[in-house]
Amino acid sequence: MSAILMDGKQVSLAVKDTLKERMPALKAQFGRVPCLTVIIVGENPASQSYVRGKVKACEYVGMDSRQVSLPESVSEEELLAIIGDLNRDDAVDGILVQLPLPKHIDESKVLEEIVPAKDVDGFHPSNVADLWLGRKCIVPCTPKGVMRLLEAHGIDPAGKLAVVIGRSNIVGKPVSKLLLDRNATVVMAHSRTKNLKELTLQADILVVAVGRAGLVTGDMVKPGAAVIDVGINRLDDGKLHGDVDAATVEPVAGYLTPVPGGVGPMTIAMLMENTVECFLRK
Ligand code: NAP
Repeated sequence: MSAILMDGKQVSLAVKDTLKERMPALKAQFGRVPCLTVIIVGENPASQSYVRGKVKACEYVGMDSRQVSLPESVSEEELLAIIGDLNRDDAVDGILVQLPLPKHIDESKVLEEIVPAKDVDGFHPSNVADLWLGRKCIVPCTPKGVMRLLEAHGIDPAGKLAVVIGRSNIVGKPVSKLLLDRNATVVMAHSRTKNLKELTLQADILVVAVGRAGLVTGDMVKPGAAVIDVGINRLDDGKLHGDVDAATVEPVAGYLTPVPGGVGPMTIAMLMENTVECFLRK
């Protein structure tokens, strides 16, 4: 038996197509389409490629996008001032600051500067609080994309044991909360977890968001489990690899997300959805 590959490209395309179809009606009703502004600092090639992908997705959907490219040397004050201007700009619905930022800039200060209503990434403390309090909020794109992929494959987390490896604010923590909201029993694992394999072997749903190529191997996976590989690792071979060793996991798992082509495209599609949501909330 071999795992069903969860095709994030296909699911994300369906999401984007639905948004695309809505654009003429939004334009007719509000006189304009939603606008996403992406701020990028420095020349990090991976960040540049992510930003290109986001701008391209806006074009595909028929939304406006602006890109603000700043030099590595930009000061924190300058960056905060630019965000302040975008906060006040009525033509901008979503603001995204591509991470990571240079060391001299305090990332949390920058994320807190974005008004929650335009926080398309859902990283502002007020959006984080709303997520954990179970209130309506902008849900972070990658965790939202993971949940949408499960849903698209008819995988209901209710009553299942979900193990999430990684506890970052961007992926691990929010995806754990979303799984909990869907009534999974959630175990959060991290670098200090002992007996990781003992836990993962029990997981009906295994989400891996670590940043270590090949961390999860076939002998760590429960037969038939749904394995979601969030990791993106560029290795010396120049290719992208996930955190899951697909060669050994695919014969064991019931479902597996490929890398690339799994969670990555879903993240971008959810960003498009979040931008429309911010636009409509205004
Ligand atoms: P992060 O902030 O570096 O967090 C990594 C987490 O993994 C930490 O909680 C860390 O534990 C844990 N960890 C490290 N080594 C471990 C080990 N040996 N066993 C178990 N846990 C371990 O990373 P992130 O931002 O969440 O990103 C994780 C990965 O997802 C990266 O490859 C990133 O590129 C990728 N990513 C992909 C997308 C997408 O759209 N596909 C989006 C975001 C991120 P401690 O907390 O104890 O240090």
